[in-house]
Amino acid sequence: MARIEKLPQSVVNRIAAGEVVERPASVVKELLENALDAGPGRIDVELEQGGVALVRIVDDGCGIPAAELPLAVTAHATSKLRTADDLERIATLGFRGEALASIGEVSRLTIRSRQTGGTGASLTVDGGRMGDVLPDGCAVGTTVEVRQLFGNVPARRAFLRAAQTEWSHAAEAFTRTALAHPGVAFTLSHQPSASGRPRRVHDLPVAPGWRERIGGLFGLELADRLLEVEADDGEIAVSGYVGRPEDDMASGRLQHLFVAGRPFRDRSIVHAIQEAYRGLLLSGRQPIAFLRFDLPAEAVDVNVHPAKIEVRFREPARLYRLVLSALRSRFLLGGTGTQLVPPKRPMQAEPLAAPRVEPQLPLPSWNPAPAPASSALRSAPETERLGPAARSIPAWEAEEQRTVAAAGRAIQMHDRYIVVETDTGIEVIDQHALHERLLYERFKAAVASGGLEIQPLVVPERVDLPPDDLELVREHADMLGRAGMRVEPFGGPTVIVSSKPALAGRTSAAQLLREVLDRLATAAAAGDSPALLVDEVLHGMACKAAIKAGDPLSQPEVEALVRDRQRVPESHHCPHGRPTSLTLSRQDLDRQFRRT
Ligand code: ADP
Ligand code: MG
Repeated sequence: MARIEKLPQSVVNRIAAGEVVERPASVVKELLENALDAGPGRIDVELEQGGVALVRIVDDGCGIPAAELPLAVTAHATSKLRTADDLERIATLGFRGEALASIGEVSRLTIRSRQTGGTGASLTVDGGRMGDVLPDGCAVGTTVEVRQLFGNVPARRAFLRAAQTEWSHAAEAFTRTALAHPGVAFTLSHQPSASGRPRRVHDLPVAPGWRERIGGLFGLELADRLLEVEADDGEIAVSGYVGRPEDDMASGRLQHLFVAGRPFRDRSIVHAIQEAYRGLLLSGRQPIAFLRFDLPAEAVDVNVHPAKIEVRFREPARLYRLVLSALRSRFLLGGTGTQLVPPKRPMQAEPLAAPRVEPQLPLPSWNPAPAPASSALRSAPETERLGPAARSIPAWEAEEQRTVAAAGRAIQMHDRYIVVETDTGIEVIDQHALHERLLYERFKAAVASGGLEIQPLVVPERVDLPPDDLELVREHADMLGRAGMRVEPFGGPTVIVSSKPALAGRTSAAQLLREVLDRLATAAAAGDSPALLVDEVLHGMACKAAIKAGDPLSQPEVEALVRDRQRVPESHHCPHGRPTSLTLSRQDLDRQFRRT
């Protein structure tokens, strides 16, 4: 083995950079924290190409004296901490003194700053090499520019995803920080490509309260519907807003937790939130929640993670109980008309008189037979990416011959399950899961064959969307069009939806669009391929358009559902992989009753 030597500072910085700076979003987060610690009224964030080409953050905070600029970009130099004891009660967002040094190690970083009454100066660090402090005619406050992130670390740069993916992460970092600080004005601009024009994505004025800031980020409509929650056990307080059960989401992306102005992740608290909604949401659906915790500084340790995205609580079980009881009591007491049971859907108010001319529910009807010749399918451009199921349609026919005969009597129970007598026993079907599965397969086959029936809306629907979702619509308008939803920006937060797939039945275009965007946001952030994004859109439409638990069905509808099931391969699982049915074999029953 070689001799032990102390590492040069540049190597130490490079190692630290690996922990602190993972991608442009981490740069955005660290620079925003620095800006906030400077006590600003306003912060402007500009990104180019998802932040890979440029992150620029401008604040009007206290600034840095020219003489201290070299220290600001030096590792383990900070103005926020003096003694180890200070670590016990951290009042600032930063304290490790590592961010600027780490970022400067793996990019070209320029910092310009001026204090009130002082002279402005700038300093550039290029791949760890510090330049000279130069006079600069900047305004009071600080501007930090980070260009060519990982330009000098090819291995790291190779890990960066498409600019679009980096952009969603960076925008998420912005959103979380802006949520935590409603008293500061923020803007976010993005220039997606070198040749494109920059676009203002967020413009958030100082907000009088949290609800207004949530509205600025996610739309006033959403913010207005939130329910306020508050609880206090003497030492720990939790307060904030949660969504009504009927405003559930496909993902947990609208679950935000904060402590001491700091967004954090915590699986146990998320579990408490989900637990509070148990029985109110379909399984797999996620509630909306914005919660902040107030507790004594000693009761929480923020120094457990280099990027400070996790914190440790002295008494996590106490937080769990507090969240659970705060939310539970909200729903039980329901001061704002929240019902314990999700509200009945409008279709239930209508008489279910049969026979009908128009179907009451968007039940799939398989006549005329939807199966195009397999050769036609193979020539369709989407066939490849839609996978084997689309090609196996002809096989359904044979299966149908066999199994339709096997389906015996079917009845709906508790407005949510369908019980079917089969050759070998009894099957209990989850009506929503099954219908979702059937609709999804139909969507998929129709898109693959190019035969998706599109229903133009007589009165196009106006939908107000939060800024992030507007971006998604711009980005994916073509794909949404192929899935039957023509969506166009209308100015401001509004888009116009002028068509939807006929398969979606009576589900409103606004509901479909929201669900689809919810899923697209998550999939796009994960860097999913275009084929997976289409699939996510189809899943979203199927989920929204499917009958729900609690929807009473007429007997013909029950039978249609059971009959249609035979035509779908693997209909025993919904698209999420949850089972759509449970089987009790006659043998099992006989054994239970000691008949054998
Ligand atoms: P930390 O934030 O943990 O102290 P950083 O490397 O992020 O470490 O920043 C180093 C120092 O530079 C900070 O302690 C602060 O004094 C100064 N600084 C950085 N950004 C700003 C800013 N936007 N405004 C004022 N001072 C800043
Ligand atoms: Mg910092």
